[in-house]
Amino acid sequence: MTALLRVAETHPACHVLGPGSRFVVWVQGCGIGCRECVSPQWIPFEGGRDVPVAELAEQVAREAADGLTISGGEPFAQAGAVAELVARVRARRDLSVLAYTGYTIEHLRRHGSADQRRLLAALDVLVDGPYLVGRQAAVRWRGSANQRIHLLTDRHAGLAAEPDESAGLQFEVAADATVRWLGVPPVAGLRPRLEERLGLIAREAGF
Ligand code: SF4
Repeated sequence: MTALLRVAETHPACHVLGPGSRFVVWVQGCGIGCRECVSPQWIPFEGGRDVPVAELAEQVAREAADGLTISGGEPFAQAGAVAELVARVRARRDLSVLAYTGYTIEHLRRHGSADQRRLLAALDVLVDGPYLVGRQAAVRWRGSANQRIHLLTDRHAGLAAEPDESAGLQFEVAADATVRWLGVPPVAGLRPRLEERLGLIAREAGF
């Protein structure tokens, strides 16, 4: 029987949360509680929807171009289901896998559960540490300077030589004129300003 993963949202082709074009799974629920978290709607464990891991793995293997990114919410809060997702995807395709966590890698190695250590062992890249608004920085794929990119396999070894700068944001306009954006804001407090501005544009345009 396949596990269920509590999922907040997915996207099949994100270019700003890891190398290349990646299928992104944002899981629902996080117990860490960083001040000014950029995704507060994904902190409660009650939201989102339960998705069978086998079904999601099929979709990732079918649709991902270069890799899978798991963000949230806190992926390591559902480590067993996320580890199963990675194993099922890899059984179909040898995709790069990157995960975010608000824990440090040292904490996961020393105090992590068996499922958390199993997930860690399956990753190519881990972006770790809580978001600290006082240390906000325009760094690659992260929100604050304390967060680190760990290259856990050789798959992306070339990244270490590349400049550590913001990957920017990805904007999409749907057929009904709604605007969606992905990525890590390079400056603090950008989200409310951005969404207010997008709302103003929509209202001005009569949508
Ligand atoms: S760990 Fe991530 S999802 Fe959780 S509160 Fe911090 S920034 Fe938000």
